[in-house]
Amino acid sequence: MAKIAFFSTQSYDRRFFENVSEQHQFEFFETRLKKNTVKLANGFDGVCVFVNDRVNREVLKALSEMDVKLVALRCAGFNNVDLKAAEEHGVRVMRVPAYSPEAVAEHAMALIMTLARKTHKAYNRVREGNFSLDKLTGFNIHGRTIGVVGTGKIGQAFIRIARGFGARVIAYDKYPVKEMEKLGVEYLSFDEVLANSDILSLHCPLTPDTKHLINSASLEKIKKGAMLVNTSRGKLVDTAAVIESLKNDHLGSLAIDVYEEEEKLFFRDLSELIIRDDTIARLMLFPNVLITAHQGFFTNESLQEITRTTLQNFEDFEQGRESENEVSCKLLKNC
Ligand code: NAD
Repeated sequence: MAKIAFFSTQSYDRRFFENVSEQHQFEFFETRLKKNTVKLANGFDGVCVFVNDRVNREVLKALSEMDVKLVALRCAGFNNVDLKAAEEHGVRVMRVPAYSPEAVAEHAMALIMTLARKTHKAYNRVREGNFSLDKLTGFNIHGRTIGVVGTGKIGQAFIRIARGFGARVIAYDKYPVKEMEKLGVEYLSFDEVLANSDILSLHCPLTPDTKHLINSASLEKIKKGAMLVNTSRGKLVDTAAVIESLKNDHLGSLAIDVYEEEEKLFFRDLSELIIRDDTIARLMLFPNVLITAHQGFFTNESLQEITRTTLQNFEDFEQGRESENEVSCKLLKNC
């Protein structure tokens, strides 16, 4: 029976994981896994973590010293895990590679449609008895050029939706996908995608190469008035540079489901507290900025799949079996 300590537990994690397995023993901690909390994992075989847990070298060393030999991610991205240190300390890292690419892709399109038609404003207006259409003029997605950066599982699901809208889709990825080309997607250079997109949607992972992919230099190359959409990872975007671009009326609008400093804010109710992060506070003031708190993945279908795959990962770890959900320097060849 594997003993697993869950970190960053939310009510829905308990709801999905509690009582689903007689083979494993779970304990749920609400705190994030980090240097100061790693001691809680003492006596467990593995830890189960999410996007904002900090699984760095120090934490992995401590886990290994306590004989905790599994880090199971309840997500696809693994940028918060030091894979090299995991390998050195003999800790296996497993993830849920694809629980529902459509969930994130549909959320990205929901953000785009909201900004394009200002439904977030219309909703509030109508509730207050204001039925005026003044300043609610939107734009059609049909016929627009949508640029996609990263055409993996989520990027491809997003492209299918965008093509369904009748948008022209251009894309940048180091590895163009034939099936997408057959759907009419034109692969171009990164700069060409920036210059030609009316809507630019980011779907690549966060790596040392992609940190601040959108910075002041790339923002200058973005078509004036374009909409930037980030449902991937906050650090892909230099938020301060984006704020400047919005203030200068260059970037037309921004939709984000992820934020550089989200670990101090997201997944918590801070409604009775003072927001001390002036950057997000500034972003919240723009009329053309839409923020959601990392909910792209958050559908019943995704949560069911995350639970199923994570239980499978626990099982494979316990049995010492190889797993296609394992991430390691050796498998990725890029640590
Ligand atoms: P994936 O591995 O299937 O696809 C990633 C694609 O990005 C690949 O095609 C890869 O070649 C490409 N890529 C890598 N580096 C690139 C670069 N420098 N420029 C352009 N393309 C590059 O991953 P996925 O399942 O599609 O997920 C993408 C990302 O979405 C994840 O890494 C994660 O950060 C994010 N995500 C967000 C949520 C959410 O709730 N908002 C949920 C799941 C995943």
